[in-house]
Amino acid sequence: MQGLLAGKRIVVMGVANERSIAWGIAKAAHREGARLIFTYRKERSLQKLDQLLAASGIDPLLRVACDVADDASVARAFADIGEQVGTIHGLVHSLAFADHKELQGEFVQTSRAGYHLAQDVSAYSLVAVARAARPLFREGGSIVTQTYIGAERVVPNYNVMGVAKAALEACVRYLARDLGPDGIRVNAVSSGPVRTLSAKGVAGFNDVLAAVEQKAPLRRNIDQDEVGDATVFLLSHLSRGITGEVLHVDAGYHILGF
Ligand code: NAP
Repeated sequence: MQGLLAGKRIVVMGVANERSIAWGIAKAAHREGARLIFTYRKERSLQKLDQLLAASGIDPLLRVACDVADDASVARAFADIGEQVGTIHGLVHSLAFADHKELQGEFVQTSRAGYHLAQDVSAYSLVAVARAARPLFREGGSIVTQTYIGAERVVPNYNVMGVAKAALEACVRYLARDLGPDGIRVNAVSSGPVRTLSAKGVAGFNDVLAAVEQKAPLRRNIDQDEVGDATVFLLSHLSRGITGEVLHVDAGYHILGF
């Protein structure tokens, strides 16, 4: 098999359906010759994943349940991956969660429970997963997570998730320092808005898409496949000198001051 990721075994977390950013990444990684391991949370996501795999001719090395909010589930999933697959070379963390009630109105109204939930699933999970995966990166490798401009700027309604993404980006830097000596790089892609199941939970999401189309230097929105290609770059040898970085794939929207 030829390609930028030929011979690499990569764990992809977060395919819920064909619109998922993780599915765009999985397609690009497969095209570049990677063998894929998928994790899922809901049974419904597994069913969707199986349909997508069958339709696209991707033969996964493994599909394994993993709820990142549950330490035992994370431990079990990576123990299974270790036993059944062995060494891995890449990990894609493409998941997040917040109560939809927190994704509207004023940020100042954020509840303690809503804050904790968003941080736990959307930011701390990267730490838990990186720790569990570390022993499987016997030849070094690359971890890539997905973030959003709401980490850096105020995006109305994104609220508690913006704060969780800010924590996620800080986690990327701290993890990059810890895991660098093991030859493991840790980076994030900051994607522009993409219409996915999760995005539907953010109030006013259509307004965000319209603003990007109107103002971004490229005058358009981006899609899952573009995020997939950028993530492949970060998973591949081509980015071997890059760690602790946030790469924007947003048609240039983040550079604007007004
Ligand atoms: P998506 O298709 O809805 O995917 C979200 C995934 O998170 C689902 O597969 C879901 O699994 C998983 N998940 C939620 N809670 C989980 C848990 N406790 N344990 C394990 N998995 C869990 O939405 P998406 O937009 O592709 O989101 C992927 C990532 O991209 C997220 O980090 C998101 O913040 C980020 N991102 C999205 C956008 C955008 O505009 N869409 C922009 C920038 C960044 P189940 O369905 O099985 O629960």
